[in-house]
Amino acid sequence: MTTTQSQASHNASIVAPSRSHFGSQVFDELGMERDPNNLYLQTIDAVLHACEILELPHHVQIILAQPKNEIMVHFPVLMDDGHHRLFKGYRVQHNNACGPYKGGIRFHPEVSLDDVKSLAALMTMKCSLVRIPFGGGKGGVKVDPRTLSKEELRRVSRRFISAIETQVGPDYDIPAPDVGTNAQVMAWFADTYMNISSGPNRGDSQAVVTGKPIEMGGSLGREKATGQGVIDVLAELLPELNLSISTCTAALLGYGNVGSWAAKLLAERGGKVLSAFDHTGGVYNEHGLDTLALDEWVKNHGGVAGFEKEGAADAISIDEFYSMDVDVFIPAALEQMITEDRARQMNCKVVAEAANAPTTPAGERVLMEKGVEILPAILCSSGGVTVSYFEWVQNKTHMAWDIERVDEELNRHMVLAARRVQLARHRFNVDMRTAAYIAALENLGKVYAMRGIFP
Ligand code: NAD
Repeated sequence: MTTTQSQASHNASIVAPSRSHFGSQVFDELGMERDPNNLYLQTIDAVLHACEILELPHHVQIILAQPKNEIMVHFPVLMDDGHHRLFKGYRVQHNNACGPYKGGIRFHPEVSLDDVKSLAALMTMKCSLVRIPFGGGKGGVKVDPRTLSKEELRRVSRRFISAIETQVGPDYDIPAPDVGTNAQVMAWFADTYMNISSGPNRGDSQAVVTGKPIEMGGSLGREKATGQGVIDVLAELLPELNLSISTCTAALLGYGNVGSWAAKLLAERGGKVLSAFDHTGGVYNEHGLDTLALDEWVKNHGGVAGFEKEGAADAISIDEFYSMDVDVFIPAALEQMITEDRARQMNCKVVAEAANAPTTPAGERVLMEKGVEILPAILCSSGGVTVSYFEWVQNKTHMAWDIERVDEELNRHMVLAARRVQLARHRFNVDMRTAAYIAALENLGKVYAMRGIFP
């Protein structure tokens, strides 16, 4: 563990040790570069740092430094104009020591193997942190779904899942939605898998994916789960920072599924969402935005821009958005958006990472120097996979839970995970990100200690 500590200016309880990145010898041993701009290497660096603090055995560290399986497929799809186009898809299975691989499938033009590997490793950590019996996986297809017709999207979805059919399964690897995919795509995945899979497990085969429509075995509460998990974590951890969910102010970067639900649920509990910014622009109201009206606007207009025309907000620039004085900044858009420069502009006490890996290492250093508390993504954004687990349990037991049960179970998982992180932070005197990895790895380390390595 390194010993330097940056100054926590606004709250004496914040301990924010900076560390020298990429110190682990595992990078040399496995021939991995030390590149801070590579999302996968950043993630593994954080994992290995926590492994070293916990003194986990060498074999656990080398296992976690690389995914177990990296699957890459190319598949042709008939386009509406009659020609065939070849698509590239990935499924990365990082670790299954705690249970079947679990993680979303992203349709995005920038999907790359390294990013999918990183997101798969984060899934291993999330599932272990919230103590659900899953490992980590992630997948993607390099495509912009907005450029496809509905029929083309259906054919891409069916061809991709059939290309990886032998690599997934209800007890082996269970995909879910991510950026660019939704419940409809999951319905096509499930239907395709149910049609082409065979064998004794066929009866269970709709459990091959989660995030399905309710009518097809989806769970109540799945859509809002990630945003709700963010708010459950904030409600639990803000008091230690002398803040409260019912009086705090917040800024939302991204107003899609996760951002809009986090905003609506924060407002429901008394907090004020002062501003929101997405790929179309930004809006602000010093008394708090009407989060429900903004959600409606985004659904009808594709983004937050123009909401000011409704008369209940002002338009703001990206610089005004980042530099706004708020208690909580919630990044709920894409990865790596809080760069060093953006971090310098930011004027908040807490960053609650609702998106996966939204903060660059350089951005994180700046925020820590400013004394900003960062609540890491493996904690804040684990509500979605938690309710995915509930969906899988409901499919496996042929039961349907009511929303009260889903909400209660989700809250219990999120509060316990937040407390685990808080405890690890105090025990090891580390920042919250390192503490979250430690809390996840304590569980995984025990599983490896008990199971050993075959043979
Ligand atoms: P989404 O597609 O519904 O929303 C994405 C949001 O990001 C939109 O508001 C979009 O306008 C905004 N955005 C995109 N580019 C931007 C830019 N350049 N500047 C500002 N805003 C931009 O996706 P989502 O499901 O809400 O996911 C958001 C993040 O949360 C992703 O990182 C995703 O991996 C992560 N996540 C999602 C879930 C889930 O259950 N949906 C679970 C865990 C993590």
